[in-house]
Amino acid sequence: MDFRHNCVEDIYQKVNPMNEGLFLEMDEQQQRLHILDGQHRHRAIRELQESYRKVLGGIPVILIRAVELTKCADCGQVLSEKIPALQKLIAAMALARIADPLKLSGNDIRFLRKAMNWTAREFSSALGVSVETVSRWENGKDPIGLANEKLLRLMVGTAMQESAPAIDFDAQQVMNMKIESVRSAEEMRSMCFERVKFKRPSHPKEEQWDSTEEPPRKGGLTKAYQTASAAPKSERRCSQ
Ligand SMILES: [Zn+2]
Repeated sequence: MDFRHNCVEDIYQKVNPMNEGLFLEMDEQQQRLHILDGQHRHRAIRELQESYRKVLGGIPVILIRAVELTKCADCGQVLSEKIPALQKLIAAMALARIADPLKLSGNDIRFLRKAMNWTAREFSSALGVSVETVSRWENGKDPIGLANEKLLRLMVGTAMQESAPAIDFDAQQVMNMKIESVRSAEEMRSMCFERVKFKRPSHPKEEQWDSTEEPPRKGGLTKAYQTASAAPKSERRCSQ
């Protein structure tokens, strides 16, 4: 479905995972292997997954009513997996991550850079550091410095907020954020996102710059700055 001609679009909001047991059970089911005899022909049905664990760009997430699996109705084998509005999910993940004061890991930095559609060179020149420095951050050899971490968070937040209207971005909050200088060993829980419908207020300016379903491109940052003041905020249904 093309949402470009429709004011209702899929976006992602952050929610709290409720029942761990449910997720584990489903993972096992999906990994079950079926031995097919040569005569078996799959009968495809599409199922919306109530909850689904996935690692996206190195970041573990739980997705609520988001993933559509095409399965065989007879043997249960998963034939294909689809995440609608994937770029909106990536934007929601990026925005949720930068609002969390936990020190960015190498994985996080790589994820945020890719969410911004930056090469290592583009990223390094945006922050005014060398490509080697970026590489050491992403490989976890050096922690990113506090000023660069805040700048990265601000750039990501500004560029992504339009694509993730259910996630709050507050530049002031990022600037005042207390971030540890080194990442503690403590594991972060998987972030959890629900796919919901969002009706974007019709706004001639926004229609003109609507980039629904398009990956962020070069120049996307400028675009986001221009529309930042008009970016709508939806009600948050779940608290953090
Ligand atoms: Zn089958």
